[in-house]
Amino acid sequence: MSIKPRIAVIGAGLGGVTCAILLQKMGHDVVIYEQAPRLARIGAGIGLGPNVLKVMREAGVMDQMMDIGIVHQSSYSRVWDTGEILWNRRDNDWAEKYGLPPLTMHRGDMLTVLSRALKPGTIVFNKQLLDIGTRMGETQLLFTDQTEYEADIVIGADGVNSKVREILLGYEPPIYTGFVAYRSIYPSSLLGDFKVSSDAAKWWSDDRHPAQEDRHFIIYYLTKQRDEIYFVTGSPAPDWPGGVSSIPATKKEIKECYEGFHDEVQRVIDAAPAASKWPLLERNPLPLWSRDNIVVLGDACHPMKPHMGQGAGMAIEDAAILARCIDAASGNFTAAFRRYRANRIERTSRVQRESHENVWMKHPTDPSWVYGYDATTIDLVSEDTL
Ligand code: FAD
Repeated sequence: MSIKPRIAVIGAGLGGVTCAILLQKMGHDVVIYEQAPRLARIGAGIGLGPNVLKVMREAGVMDQMMDIGIVHQSSYSRVWDTGEILWNRRDNDWAEKYGLPPLTMHRGDMLTVLSRALKPGTIVFNKQLLDIGTRMGETQLLFTDQTEYEADIVIGADGVNSKVREILLGYEPPIYTGFVAYRSIYPSSLLGDFKVSSDAAKWWSDDRHPAQEDRHFIIYYLTKQRDEIYFVTGSPAPDWPGGVSSIPATKKEIKECYEGFHDEVQRVIDAAPAASKWPLLERNPLPLWSRDNIVVLGDACHPMKPHMGQGAGMAIEDAAILARCIDAASGNFTAAFRRYRANRIERTSRVQRESHENVWMKHPTDPSWVYGYDATTIDLVSEDTL
């Protein structure tokens, strides 16, 4: 194997593309294989903490993202029915403490900015990984269209239903948590004269809610101009059909779930022209993150409930640490992957646990352990630490 390996990334999501950009900046030869025919502008917003923007700065895309996204001037934590404000965060205040503020934007816009930072032709579309084998000592990637490609290193960044994870550990479906997320994005002009009372708000149920089951409703602007608004929820739903990543949701079912919630929530639901419903999936921490020259990152490795807004953040931090470990490896990539795991498992497992609890930032919180982390500069521990 050459010292500069041929690196194959499976999946052009936020984690895979970030990893490819950073590796290319270090001079590595990277190809991304993506099953979709193109990058789609999936209808979802994304919140990026200062910890994530530090990686975006290293990738050379932060300024473009800041031009599009919004730093919320007010971000309320509120009681579901009375609207009592439990906490008002001003995202700009974090900039002083952590060097950068949190940023919110459309996920599709983020992926577009990221993909433009790749060398032209890096992403090969319509390539769904089927298997990984070896021929004459070379690793072969086999795709569902029966094409084959060689690689020296394979990075599985292929999301919660990861094929690479399955190849490493055998098939095991992710765990359905009993919660779905209703999501909708639409022009704020559809709210007419009504203005939401803050740039962002999370409305929390409590045990006075008639159904007495944990649920919340998040509303935020996606653009600097505040011309696009987004809602995303965490809503109890005992069953999920399986086999699909999302389905359309009716306004009736959303209204039923959020009956009794504050008028502001009702107005935002009423104005939505369409909505979708996504299952919230998790996995227990994986016993194995890599084998030989194959490694996983992001949701392929540690999918979590989205309640800290850090799932993509952890994929992006993984990407930065993995790229650093590969670059420093001098050809011993198995050791590099062990080092990557040693540097990531404690943090990602903690974020998985806290996300599951869904209490993050409800009341005044010191987020230093999350926001203060810098994957681009933190000292790396050795592979033997775990
Ligand atoms: P993905 O983004 O899932 O990308 C995987 C890619 O691999 C896809 O492009 C897919 O098409 C491709 N792929 C899959 N299988 C194959 C195959 N066999 N061959 C080739 N390609 C393949 N995170 C945040 O940080 N902030 C938030 O505000 C936030 N909000 C969220 C809200 C909801 C409702 C949900 C469900 C999640 C949220 N997350 C958030 C979490 C975040 O979406 C994920 O953690 C993140 O997208 C994971 O990135 P990834 O690159 O690991 O995987």
